[in-house]
Amino acid sequence: MAGGDQPVRKVTIVGGGTAGWMTAAVLSQWLSQVEIKLVESEEIGTVGVGEATIPHIRNYLPLAGVDPLKMIHATKATFKLGIQFVDWGAPGESYFHGFGNIGRDMLWLHAHQLWLAANERAPGSVKHFDNYSIAAAAALRNRFDYPDKRNPNSPLADFEYAYNFDASLFARFLRAESEARGVQRIEGRVVEVLKDGQSGFVSGVRLQDGRELAGDLFVDCSGMRALLIGDTLGVGYEHWNKWLICDRALAVPCESVSPVTPYVRCTTRSAGWQWRIPLQHRIGNGYVYSSNLLSDDEAAETLLGNLDGTPLADARPVRFAPGRRLKAWDKNVVSIGLSSGFLEPLESTSIHLIQTGIQKLLALFPATGFSQPDIDEYNRQARFEFEDVRDFIIAHYNVTRRSGEPFWDYVRMMDVPDSLKERYELFASSGRFFKRAAAELFAENSWVQVLLGQGFQARPDPVAQFVPTEEIVSFLEDVADTIADVAEELPDHADFVSRLPTSTPGA
Ligand code: FAD
Repeated sequence: MAGGDQPVRKVTIVGGGTAGWMTAAVLSQWLSQVEIKLVESEEIGTVGVGEATIPHIRNYLPLAGVDPLKMIHATKATFKLGIQFVDWGAPGESYFHGFGNIGRDMLWLHAHQLWLAANERAPGSVKHFDNYSIAAAAALRNRFDYPDKRNPNSPLADFEYAYNFDASLFARFLRAESEARGVQRIEGRVVEVLKDGQSGFVSGVRLQDGRELAGDLFVDCSGMRALLIGDTLGVGYEHWNKWLICDRALAVPCESVSPVTPYVRCTTRSAGWQWRIPLQHRIGNGYVYSSNLLSDDEAAETLLGNLDGTPLADARPVRFAPGRRLKAWDKNVVSIGLSSGFLEPLESTSIHLIQTGIQKLLALFPATGFSQPDIDEYNRQARFEFEDVRDFIIAHYNVTRRSGEPFWDYVRMMDVPDSLKERYELFASSGRFFKRAAAELFAENSWVQVLLGQGFQARPDPVAQFVPTEEIVSFLEDVADTIADVAEELPDHADFVSRLPTSTPGA
């Protein structure tokens, strides 16, 4: 490849972590005319974390031509209905950010508006907000079933779910699917990236043993090393560490304990927070923290002191820099995965951003050569997606009421982006929340659960004044009772997983 106007027939993916194999699986499913090679180094290995997803992963699996039941079996996955946040509003409090809708509407007033109105006019007349979400009600009872789309009046019609899976088994599973479709895997360490002197396009990569791999298009999935997009093309990185001050994690798996919860738990700690991700065969745990405010030894002590089961390995450190690559696509290199940026694992969004990166690449695939307007469009969308998720994550920290610890005092008092301030103002004055763009990832139900869950003070929609208080209170009582009854009837999550077939017939 000399300069960009030739059709793309050879794609070389550098890196075989979650990003590399997710990309290979989709490209091999849809672009059978294109030769796909993937180079990875076992000696270097992968980041080895990234096990919780959001419901959009269910769209990725058909895009990659993958049977969900086979995936669940191969990766020892469990179901995820959302995240339980412990001690985020204030110590001793918890709330659930569940997938799917909350409650039912009255007029055009969403359940949270009714809840705000009842709370304001008759304090004590409503339950904790978790009681109006079917996801929370089912999850906190350790129950799970597939959504019931045949019955539109059931709370289960809007049930949404994602998966928790073993990251290395997921990459291995996608590797087998990709290789079966002709993707060529090359084991080796890239030691040099070759560039065309005139155009600056990447022309190949040289491996330690001297082999060279050419390509028309290169997908940089080399993780935080960003070998092609960063080291070779010199595309810069925008750091967001003034808002997202965690830069390190310690991860450790531990033995499973019963019940196998269908949700992730995130619990605040003195200088960050701890995750707990249950899989079929083990629980993934990690402490995400600010290295300025906590030593690695202190982090290890806290993490190991807060496990539900016996550790299965030594705690493994991971360093990261929250932010985004200034151009995710430059010349003939598209960066997908950690090479394109990383926010924070708090809302399990990285695998989703890999997925949207792949979808954009398919939609803008340079089949007849590279076009700058297509590249610009890719970069515009990637920037929007990262900034959108960034604001939602910042809000979790900023809306805390914890005080007296340097970490939490900083995040509570920090100056947040204007885009976030505007959301706070609208929500505080009228409980209203609107999507400003179709591409926004988190919708009203997510924001509302986090803001109200952490004790953010908001007035109800003024329209709620037209509805008598008793009517609102009895309506909400009915919603909570129905949800509790339905949740109670669902199967136990662990039983449900153990009874699943290992593949879909015919898939
Ligand atoms: P990596 O896994 O680092 O893979 C890089 C690949 O490049 C490897 O195969 C490596 O061998 C190869 N490579 C590198 N250099 C060379 C070289 N010179 N030659 C040859 N090969 C090379 N995401 C979620 O969605 N949910 C979560 O719950 C979640 N939790 C996370 C927790 C933490 C603490 C962190 C840091 C991240 C988390 N993520 C999560 C993000 C998620 O882990 C990543 O987005 C995902 O694993 C993708 O990583 P990757 O494939 O880009 O990089």
